[in-house]
Amino acid sequence: MTVGVIGGGQLGRMLALAGYPLGLDFLFLDPSKEAPAARVAPVVHGEFTDPQLLKWLSRECQVLTFDWENISVEALRRHATGARRARICPPVTALATAQDRVAEKRLFERLGIPTTRWQAVGSRATLERALREVGLPGVLKTRRMGYDGKGQMRIRTHADALHAWERLANVPLIYEEWVPFECEVSIIGARSTRGQTVFYPLNGNAHANGILRVTRAPYGPSRWHRAAIGYLTRCLEHFGYAGVLTIEFFVRNGRLIANEMAPRVHNSGHWTIEGCATSQFENHLRAILGLPLGSTRPSGHSAMVNLIGQMPERARLLEVEGLHLHDYGKQPRPDRKLGHCTLVEPTASRRDRLARQVLARVAPGVRLP
Ligand code: AMP
Repeated sequence: MTVGVIGGGQLGRMLALAGYPLGLDFLFLDPSKEAPAARVAPVVHGEFTDPQLLKWLSRECQVLTFDWENISVEALRRHATGARRARICPPVTALATAQDRVAEKRLFERLGIPTTRWQAVGSRATLERALREVGLPGVLKTRRMGYDGKGQMRIRTHADALHAWERLANVPLIYEEWVPFECEVSIIGARSTRGQTVFYPLNGNAHANGILRVTRAPYGPSRWHRAAIGYLTRCLEHFGYAGVLTIEFFVRNGRLIANEMAPRVHNSGHWTIEGCATSQFENHLRAILGLPLGSTRPSGHSAMVNLIGQMPERARLLEVEGLHLHDYGKQPRPDRKLGHCTLVEPTASRRDRLARQVLARVAPGVRLP
């Protein structure tokens, strides 16, 4: 059984590492010769839109999935579907929705999932209207291709909005209210092709400059968890979904407000590799192959710290008792996710104490909230 993965980043690499014990094989498509998945699996190098490569991949594999959401939906639909071709999981409709922040917001509203107030912006006139109707402060984001805080600017004044419009213009935008949240959380769940669902404990996420820095789980009161599962279930059922799906929320006055969704395994779920009976990566594979889903029972209190920009000295990190290190083998670059480490501890207070030790070594400016 061969799983084709479009995108050979760290998510793809961790998918392959989770799939080998199940007896699965992998084939990746990625333009980069340095794709992290290349250390552990065969990678075909070419553009994500290459018609010949997409056709070939979908003939060679039983199922196609992706580890990056900014791949071309058009190219996937045109070249990777049809008779005698692999199934694509998660569904392309979910991918198309997640690629467009406006489509995503409309879906949340349609499914009764609370989200930020927003307006689509395509001109100076629609920007002025959005400022009037949504109000200040806010954030102007590109509708497409934004990730890790890229393609968005915070708006405090009318002048900020005009400046951001100059900087971001020429692509469709969305203006959202700024949410002065108490914290950020995410829920990760899986639905199999047979309709079975499982949900992981809620993740508490801390970002710096729009990039995830630390996740702790299980996090927050059980009513947040129940609400998040309810919202995620609506999305899973809406798409007839297969695979792992994530929704990120702001928490404001104890209520969850959906920010965005990701139709794939998610950075805030990396702790599940060591911290849960079955990782998000293994459950994604089980889900898309119609296998029984594994238990999401946590084995303790986990913290995941991202290693961003440059890799700290390995020995310094491994000094921290119980630390699990994941080095993706990427070249250092500012703001690039190069690896992560996970701690799984019997109590939340011990977990937080060790997580602070790790943060002091890898990101001295970042505080655990
Ligand atoms: P995003 O790319 O939408 O996930 O945004 C990245 C990060 O920027 C989020 O995790 C938040 O920390 C922050 N952010 C984005 N949108 C908002 C908003 N409307 N209000 C407050 N913070 C936001």
